[in-house]
Amino acid sequence: MPVTLSDRAFQIGDSPTLKINAQARALKAAGEPVIHLGGGEPTFPAPQSAVDAIVQKAQTRRIKYSPASGTPALKKAVAAYHLAHYGQVLQPEQIMISAGAKQALFNFLLAAVEDGDEVVFPAPYWVSYPEMVKLAGGKPVVVRAKHGLRVTAQEIFNAVTPRTKVIIINSPCNPGGYIFGEDFIREVIRFAEEKQIFLVMDDIYHQLVFDGAKTPNPCAHMQTGNNLVIINGVSKVYGLTGLRIGWAVSRNTDLIAAMGRMQAQSTSCNSDLSETAAAAALNGDQACVRELCAQLEHNRNVLLEELAKIPHISVEKPQGTFYAFVDFSHYNANSNALASYLLEKALVVVVPGKAFGSDGYLRISFCADTSDIVGGVRRIRWALDKTAPNEIFIGHKLVTRD
Ligand code: PMP
Repeated sequence: MPVTLSDRAFQIGDSPTLKINAQARALKAAGEPVIHLGGGEPTFPAPQSAVDAIVQKAQTRRIKYSPASGTPALKKAVAAYHLAHYGQVLQPEQIMISAGAKQALFNFLLAAVEDGDEVVFPAPYWVSYPEMVKLAGGKPVVVRAKHGLRVTAQEIFNAVTPRTKVIIINSPCNPGGYIFGEDFIREVIRFAEEKQIFLVMDDIYHQLVFDGAKTPNPCAHMQTGNNLVIINGVSKVYGLTGLRIGWAVSRNTDLIAAMGRMQAQSTSCNSDLSETAAAAALNGDQACVRELCAQLEHNRNVLLEELAKIPHISVEKPQGTFYAFVDFSHYNANSNALASYLLEKALVVVVPGKAFGSDGYLRISFCADTSDIVGGVRRIRWALDKTAPNEIFIGHKLVTRD
C-alpha cells in the first residue's frame, strides 16, 4: 500500500495569489518582460528604524527563542499603537503576536471554531478566509450583495444561523478597496454582541486610506468587547511583509490565552529578530506611513485614469488598500481564463476575481511602480479592446494584436 495523504490535504486549495506570484517570478526569471499588477505588498523600502533594529539585534549574537505570544517590548509597542488608533488601553494578556496577521487569524479560528461551526464573511473576500476556516473544521458561509459589490449589514444578519460562531469583516477590503461605513460597523458590532458571535475585524489595511477618509473605530461601538477580535500587523502599513509579524487583540483573555497555546504547540514563538524590528517600526518615525499612503493615493489616481480608457469595464474608486476590483465581465465572465489570457498575450499579471469569490472581476494592484501601472493597463487595453492601436511594445519587441 502506498503512503496516503489526509483528507484535509485534498480539501485545501493553493493560495491563488501566491501561485500567480510564483508563475510571474518564473516568467521573469526566464527573461520575459512581465508587468506584475497582482502583488500584495508595497514596493517601498523597509523603514530605517526596523533595519537599524535588526542590525543591532544581530550584532548582539543572541538570536533565541522568545515568549510564545510575543516579547514584552513588542506587546508594549502594539499596546501604544492600539491606544493611538483605537483609543483603548490594552494589557499584555490581551495581545497575541503571530507570524503575520495570517497566523493570528488562523490561531483565532483554531481556538474558536468547532467542527461544523459556520463562519460568515462577505464576498469579495480575502482568498485565505475559506481555506483557513475549512482547515479549522468550520464551514465558510459567503454573503453576496444583492445590489453591487458591497453587502449591507442586513445581508450579513440574514446569513446568520444558530451554528454561526464567527463573522469576519475586512475593512478597507481586499480586494474591493472600499471601507465599510460607520453605520455598518456599529450595526454589525451590536448584532454580534447581542447574539454572542465572535466578530473579527481584519484591520490590516486600516491606515492605508485615501482622500482624508478614516476607517470606523470598532472599539467606539463595543459594549463588553468580549467577542471582538482586531487583527493587525506590520506587513501592509510599513511594507514589512517579510518580517512575518502580525497580531490579534481582544478583551477576551481566555481567547488570547487559547490562541497562545495554539502557537506555542505549533511554531513555539515568533522570530526574535522580526519582533525586534516590528517594535522599532511601531515606535519609530511614522512619516513612512504617510509617505506610503500619499504614494498609493497617487498610484490609485494614475490607475483609474488609465482604466478609464478601456471601454465596457467598471470600477468603484478604491477608498483604501492598494487594490482596484474591476468588472471585466464584458470581455470574459470567466476571470480565470481572462487572467491567463492577459498573462500569455500581454505578460501582465492580475488576479482573477474568482479567487475572491466574485467571477467576472480582476483585481489590479496599485502598489507597483507608477510606470508599471501605466504600462500594464495599456497592455490590458491593447489585448482586449479592438479599438486600441493594433501594435504595442512588450519589452523591446513590437507586437501586433490581431
Ligand atoms: N488579511 C488580509 C485581508 C490580507 O490581504 C492579508 C495579506 N494579503 C493578510 C490578512 C495577511 O497579512 P500578513 O502578511 O500580516 O500575514
